[in-house]
Parts: sequence; structure tokens; C-alpha cells
Amino acid sequence: MAYEIVTKNTVRDRFKSPARPAIWADTPEKDWNNWVWQQQKRIKSMDVLEKVLNVTQEERDAFAQSHEMFNMGITPYYASLMDKDDPNCPIRLQSVPKKGELFVAPIDLEDPLGEEKDMPVPGITHRYPDRVLFYTTHNCPVYCRHCTRKRKVSDPSSAAQTRQLEEGLAYIEAHKEIRDVVISGGDPLSNSDERLEYILSRLRAMDHIEVFRLGTRNLVTLPQRITDSFAQMLRKYHPVFVHTHFNHPKECTQEAFDACAKLADAGCVIHNQMVLLKGVNDDPKIVKELNHKLLMMRVRPYYIFQCDMAQGISHFRTPVEKGIEIIQALRGWTSGMAVPQYVIDGPGGGGKIPIFPNYIQGREGKKWILRNYKGDRYEYIEP
Ligand SMILES: *Cc1c(COP(=O)(O)O)cnc(C)c1O
Ligand code: SF4
Repeated sequence: MAYEIVTKNTVRDRFKSPARPAIWADTPEKDWNNWVWQQQKRIKSMDVLEKVLNVTQEERDAFAQSHEMFNMGITPYYASLMDKDDPNCPIRLQSVPKKGELFVAPIDLEDPLGEEKDMPVPGITHRYPDRVLFYTTHNCPVYCRHCTRKRKVSDPSSAAQTRQLEEGLAYIEAHKEIRDVVISGGDPLSNSDERLEYILSRLRAMDHIEVFRLGTRNLVTLPQRITDSFAQMLRKYHPVFVHTHFNHPKECTQEAFDACAKLADAGCVIHNQMVLLKGVNDDPKIVKELNHKLLMMRVRPYYIFQCDMAQGISHFRTPVEKGIEIIQALRGWTSGMAVPQYVIDGPGGGGKIPIFPNYIQGREGKKWILRNYKGDRYEYIEP
């Protein structure tokens, strides 16, 4: 018997493009879809932001007092995801300055993850036995208000120069125990294709390097950056892993879908690292919806990070119980593929520490007393 094959890709149709704010209504498609245009038209001043949103007095004041410490930068695309009237819009909270940023809590840390401490050469953090973080730029298309690397990101004086890049590559080359390189920043996709290809080709030429990852938020903030020629370039250097940072279902647009599709079609494996943020995604329903959308975009939820103790982000921090509650609301209730690992990055350089809901209720000799996702009790007896 013959089957009728249904080939229409209906999943893409479930993702919508945002409506453009009026100031860009007449921008030609070819500009709007061009990442260079998006990058050049980034919103950096209140004057332009006022044309896109109904800015609140609090946001105006926070911008005036914060922009010298940490720039504002928002691509027109990312701004088009914002609610123009709601100051608590999750996209707006992540990219428009708020008063909370100006407050440094007594417990805040200057280098919350101790990244400087584990820096054998500038631009490399070598904390774990077999893998390193490699900083290749300090620019990003959108400056996330919750960024852990605020001290560095957006500061042109700290940009990774060619000499630093070469020193980093030399360090990786000399350390044969390294098999995995996390190419980071800032956002490594702020580098030109040419510079990125240079980095990838140098790493691929090292026999001890097995895998590398591009840690990028461009899929979220500037999906136009994923051009066909960029995706094709990556094919030469497989296996290439891409680690991205979606925080809210509103970020899962058709543009983001297409950017992920290009990378996945080119053979990349894409993982998501969400940061748990008060007012943005501290709700199991939102995280579940986000993770379901990510899977449809061929992105596997990998980590949920507890918001760390960096300065000026205490207004984003949630209790640890919130993260545990979210994992508990996912595990068993939805596909295991949609359940990431919840971690706290040990302040001062402890690395990622996994936090689990407690499914072990007790142990009596060879008998383990467990509970399942519904809270029912089970006993497993060892041989
Ligand atoms: C997160 C991180 C890595 C990668 O950790 P994985 O758990 O392998 O994803 C490597 N080095 C540093 C310093 C990190 O913070
Ligand atoms: S993209 Fe990453 S590095 Fe850049 S501002 Fe956002 S969180 Fe920080």
C-alpha cells in the first residue's frame, strides 16, 4: 500500500516575526534582514529609545546614571520584540537599564566567577581539567542588563587584541590536556567571519582539540548574523557546538527559528543556557513553554544558571528554591529532552555545581526509598 507523504513544514509557521515599530516601518526588507544594518542601527541613546517605546521616568534616570558604567545597546530586531507600554516586558527588562542596576549589594562580588584568578594568560580561563574558556572579543549586539561580565563587556579598552588572541592560541596549543574550547566573549559572533574562521582553523589543526563551542547570543539578539556563508564556513570545522542563551519564549521568533535551522542544517549541535531572572522567567510555565519552543527549533535545553553574585544584578536574583521548583515542574511532566541541568556557578571560581530536587527519601541498608515526579513512594532494593 502507498502512503501519502506530508512534506509541508508546519512547525516553522508556528513561529511569528515580530511587528516592526513605526520608526522602522519603511525600512526595506533587505536592510532589516541584514545584520550589518541591524548592528549599525543599534539603539544607544534615550532619544532613539523614546521613539520606539513609552519610556518610563525610572528607565530615563537609570540610563542617565548607568550608561557610563555599562552601555546600552539594543538591535532594532530585539527592540521589536518589546512591549512598548509595559516596563516589565521580559525583553525590556533584559536590555533597558533599570534602577536596580545602580545598587551594589554588600554581598555582590566584583569577579563573581573568579575568572581572573584562573587566567593563566589574558583571555583564557582554565578551571576544569580538560576544557577552557577563550575570550575573543568584548562586544555584543545587545548588552544584557544581567550580564555576568559587565566589567569587561562593552569596554573597548579591554578588547582582545591580536596579540592576546595569539597568546591564547599558543596556550591551548601547548596544553595537550585541553580537548574542549568554549569560544566566548562578549559574543564571539561580533568577530568577522574571517577572524572566526582563523580561530576555528587554528584550533582544528591541533591534534588534542576534539570539540569546540561558540558561546553566542546572536541567535536571540541578532539572528540575521547567521548567514548562509557563515553556516557553510562552519561545516569545514565539525564537530561545532553552539551554546546560546534564550531566556523567554518571546525570543523564539521565526527569525530565530531560521537562524537555528541554518546552523542545524549545517550540522551544528545547539544547546541553550538560560539564566534564571526574576520577573523574566522565574515561573515553571514560562520555562516549559520556552523549552518546548527550543526543541522545535532543534535547540536542546542544557543549563539553567542561578543568577550569580555580580555587582548591580541583585534585582534579578531569585531564591534557589525557585530553580528547584522549576526542575521539579519539568522532570517527568514533560520530555526529558526539555529538562536542563540547574546549576549554581560556585562564587569565586568553584565551577558549576548541580542542584537537584531531592528524589531520595531515605536509605535502609540495601533499600533505597525514592519518590517519583508525582511524589509517590517507591523502594529499590540492591542485590
Ligand atoms: C562553564 C564553563 C566551562 C564549560 O563547562 P561545561 O559544564 O563543560 O559546559 C568551562 N570553563 C569555564 C571556566 C566555565 O565557566
Ligand atoms: S550576550 Fe552574553 S556576554 Fe554579551 S552582554 Fe549578553 S550576557 Fe553578556
